[in-house]
Amino acid sequence: KRFKDYELSNEIIMALGSLGYEQPTEVQSKVIPLALAKTDLVVKSQTGSGKTASYGIPICEAIDWLENKPQALVLTPTRELAVQVKEDFTNIGRLKRIKATAVYGKQPIAIQKTELKQKTHVVVGTPGRMLDHIERGTLVLDKIRYLVIDEADEMLNMGFIEQVEAIIKQVPQNRVTMLFSATLPEKVKDLALKYMKTPTDVEI
Ligand code: AMP
Repeated sequence: KRFKDYELSNEIIMALGSLGYEQPTEVQSKVIPLALAKTDLVVKSQTGSGKTASYGIPICEAIDWLENKPQALVLTPTRELAVQVKEDFTNIGRLKRIKATAVYGKQPIAIQKTELKQKTHVVVGTPGRMLDHIERGTLVLDKIRYLVIDEADEMLNMGFIEQVEAIIKQVPQNRVTMLFSATLPEKVKDLALKYMKTPTDVEI
């Protein structure tokens, strides 16, 4: 299958073309149709598999440009991954003029507050700083329709479980949740069981 065979708008297909993405990777070919159908997903996959675009593509497709409040939230274990994911959303969503913001520790919070005050469709970040913005009221969650928990096993290893749960609890229930993890220890499965709606398992 090619990207043209999915229910994707020309703006997304053309952006993928200019990124040099000709064919979906395995994880993309499995995740994209399920995510477009708004199914909750637990995906076992490694980095380097193209997993970022597997959720980035369907989320960019679903973003309503006119809505000024964030519509998608992506949790990552590290600042480096947050910045990379933000760039991927910007690239995939370029022709839809999708705006993504990264929030993470060690950058002055004022810079991020200014960014969050402007129109942003997607917010990517590490759990601690994201929770900080939620508590300060600089990140509003009432329009969030997509929640991605990326590298869930890493986030648990790094001790972010409580912050991750505190964030999930504040996201509106009427949403699609996608969890990505290289391994599926009990604690990751518990998280899925507790906060997802009969998720489909995808293994690569
Ligand atoms: P990820 O697993 O999301 O970190 O992606 C690994 C690398 O594969 C990144 O450099 C992406 O830009 C690239 N990539 C993702 N999807 C595709 C695709 N369909 N075709 C070619 N390269 C891709």
